[in-house]
Amino acid sequence: MDSSEFRECAMATIDLIIDYLENIRNRNVLPSVEPGYLMKMLPEDAPEEPENWKTVLKDFNETVMPGITNWHSPQFHAYYPTGSSYASIIGSLLSDGIGVIGLTWMASPACTELEVITMNWLGKLLGLPEEFLNCSAGPGGGIIQGSASEATLVALLAAKDKMIRKLKQIDPDLNEDVAKAKLVAYTSDQCNSSVEKAGVLGSIKMRLLKSDQNGKLRGETLKRAFEEDTAQGLIPCYVVANLGTTGICSFDPLNELGPICQKYNAWLHVDAAYAGVAFICPEYRYLMKGVEYADSFDVNAHKWLLVNFDCSAMWVKDGYDLINAFDVQRIYLEDVNATVQIPDYRHWQMSLGRRFRSLKLWTVLKVHGAEGLRSYIRNQISLVQHFAKLVDSDERFIVEPEPCMGLACFRFRGGDKITKELLKSLTEKKKVFMVGCTYRSRYVIRFVICSRFTTKEDIETSWNIIKEEADQVCPTNIS
Ligand code: PLP
Repeated sequence: MDSSEFRECAMATIDLIIDYLENIRNRNVLPSVEPGYLMKMLPEDAPEEPENWKTVLKDFNETVMPGITNWHSPQFHAYYPTGSSYASIIGSLLSDGIGVIGLTWMASPACTELEVITMNWLGKLLGLPEEFLNCSAGPGGGIIQGSASEATLVALLAAKDKMIRKLKQIDPDLNEDVAKAKLVAYTSDQCNSSVEKAGVLGSIKMRLLKSDQNGKLRGETLKRAFEEDTAQGLIPCYVVANLGTTGICSFDPLNELGPICQKYNAWLHVDAAYAGVAFICPEYRYLMKGVEYADSFDVNAHKWLLVNFDCSAMWVKDGYDLINAFDVQRIYLEDVNATVQIPDYRHWQMSLGRRFRSLKLWTVLKVHGAEGLRSYIRNQISLVQHFAKLVDSDERFIVEPEPCMGLACFRFRGGDKITKELLKSLTEKKKVFMVGCTYRSRYVIRFVICSRFTTKEDIETSWNIIKEEADQVCPTNIS
């Protein structure tokens, strides 16, 4: 492909993207394909001869598009949102266009420095304590990881390293292998699967502590677990608090967990992957009370901040905790003297290479502005409140727990069986997409505002589809 073909193809691709997004309501949210459909359509081997870009786009439309789940459809209410906006797509395009890898400062100074700047901007917008920011006097700072899963694992590995160093200071003859086997990590039974997986990947026992009736991990529970374990000679090392759990969007009280972590020198990581973005609105910041106790904090800009995947914003109070854990030197990587202020981000993450991810965060922050983003979040929250009111008005249903952020959960009063049946038949019809979870041992359907295009009318459309199906599954009120 030469530059003139690229120009033509890029224009056609931009048109394709715009047509797709602007007409997304004409598509079912779920595709009508069977497993293995694409393998049947595409050849087993890569083409020997070059193909014209028009053929590529034609094949894309005819073979790939039918197998797309339309995450940006206003009838997509599953999981949590994945960010998308024209501003972000431009940032991604620029990043791919210049195609740099920012493994050291010299490898592309702007790549490092724009990340420092945008992470400071975002950290300030969220109201994070100064110590997390790169512009503070201390060793804090932010980095863009690929995912919240990576952030949880990076923090876990740094926590293990820090604890072992501390123990070695006390006992220089410490047997590291024996000590490592005694380290324990903790989170709640409401944690995202990625948190439990971080324990597996990081070779540490991860205890999923019982949350309370409202899905919160309480200080008392953590304290008891620490006491039980230390009595057995184990060492509490790492705690993941959840601000906005994946199931019901509950918030662990950081002000209860923090002082306990502090007393035991255990690292406190905050997983605010979805809901953390709401802290750009000051009225929600009470939900992160106690954040000053955290050692690290992560929020996915690629979920609810209009930034396309991948852009997980992670801050640490002390960048040297990461550098100490992950600094592996090679002559070919020697560069300017990196500091926490001008970081060599390769020491802050798992991989060596890194994309210029901050470009898309930068374009989104500039094009939408803080006020634009705040009103986006507030509007999405008001849409879910509208949905909850509609469900509430139907006596067959109950909304519980209270809707939180962009999520409302609901179920039939008649029990789990018909609630599951409703979700199953809705999924089969492919017009709205939701997933279930449990709340107080009852099966509930999660309804999340995911698409940036969603309007009040779209919510009513989704509700009418749900209600029509409910009429089939549960025609009368079974209480
Ligand atoms: N934590 C929470 C609370 C989540 O809801 C999710 C995903 O939905 C994750 C972590 C994992 O995020 P990622 O896909 O960025 O690893």
